[in-house]
Amino acid sequence: MSIRIDPAKCNGCGRCAEICPGNLIQMVGSGKDRKAQMAYPDECWGCMSCVKVCPVQAIEFYIGSDIGGQGASLTAAVSKKEIDWTACKDGCILQQIITERQKANKY
Ligand code: SF4
Ligand code: SF4
Repeated sequence: MSIRIDPAKCNGCGRCAEICPGNLIQMVGSGKDRKAQMAYPDECWGCMSCVKVCPVQAIEFYIGSDIGGQGASLTAAVSKKEIDWTACKDGCILQQIITERQKANKY
């Protein structure tokens, strides 16, 4: 399992690199060209911290075939109260789940 970072969306804020517990994401370039880059995809254990913290949804979690993803990916849009999880495949939305941040494991 791993993540994909869309360089066209990335604004170079560095939040994902700061929050990754394994220091797996590196910032490369400078100025407008500063971008996040997944440096160690094989080491990712899918904690989703970077997916949630990215303010522009530039990071998607790739759901591997080993866990039934078959090319699908997951993104998260976080607001004060909710997290909007979206599963996509081939540009189409497969499923959307909205979780309340104050009520973990209930949606
Ligand atoms: S959190 Fe998102 S926008 Fe910020 S550096 Fe990471 S990928 Fe880019
Ligand atoms: S999902 Fe977790 S372990 Fe994987 S790159 Fe993001 S923050 Fe790091």
